[in-house]
Amino acid sequence: MITGASKGIGREIAIALANEGAEVAINYRASEDHADDVARIVEESGMSAWTYRADVGSYDQIKEMKEFFSKYFGGIDILVNNAGINIDKLFFKMEPEAWGKVLNVNLTGVFNCTHIFLEQLMESKNGRIINISSIVGQMGNIGQVNYAASKAGIIGMTKALAREVARNNITVNAIAPGFIETDMVAGIPDKVKEKILKNIPLNRFGQPEEVAKAVVYLASPDAAYITGHILNINGGMYL
Ligand code: NAD
Repeated sequence: MITGASKGIGREIAIALANEGAEVAINYRASEDHADDVARIVEESGMSAWTYRADVGSYDQIKEMKEFFSKYFGGIDILVNNAGINIDKLFFKMEPEAWGKVLNVNLTGVFNCTHIFLEQLMESKNGRIINISSIVGQMGNIGQVNYAASKAGIIGMTKALAREVARNNITVNAIAPGFIETDMVAGIPDKVKEKILKNIPLNRFGQPEEVAKAVVYLASPDAAYITGHILNINGGMYL
């Protein structure tokens, strides 16, 4: 089950997991067409896909989503908490609403999905939780106090939960991408992008597929002994 899987990094994660033989439950918030498109690609690879519209920030909607997906398959083995938003403003101009909204989707959303699907992951015997954090949660960024707090929160959650659910043979890891070419980065003005590039030793932005490959690895049996880890995918920007 991948949240926010209709576009960007989530879309590539859904496709990459299906290519490795996973059946895919696609959560999306807004674009049914895009979600259906991902489902079609997954089905072309020979795997099943289901889509469901739900706001990860709503505990009730995620509960309903679980009921829906459970009708089609017993339970999930891999949960990828990918959905995320940013509402950037300098801190002194940041409205409480922008703080609340970003924390609700990015951090409470991870709580909601993990809390609701945890029982199924326990039943799986080899459950995997993979949270998408951000380099901004590690090093901060001007204009992103709310986003940084939410992504740093995910790192704390990942480590605490990894300790709690290890006894259930569930691993919990996070990926901290740097700047990845998706709609989220497309909105950054060119001048700012040039500045960012100067701070990336590998001298390029990352691709969503590069994050998806790491998710596939963390979800695979090869990564069974890795838990509580934060995997940087950032071209060397933060070490
Ligand atoms: P994106 O905007 O292309 O995709 C975000 C996805 O999340 C979309 O599918 C959107 O519909 C979904 N979403 C947003 N709010 C939701 C909600 N309330 N409920 C369900 N789904 C919701 O951005 P992306 O770059 O693909 O981002 C994916 C994740 O990676 C996010 O958590 C983001 O913070 C993180 N990230 C991105 C970058 C980057 O450079 N692109 C860097 C670090 C971390």
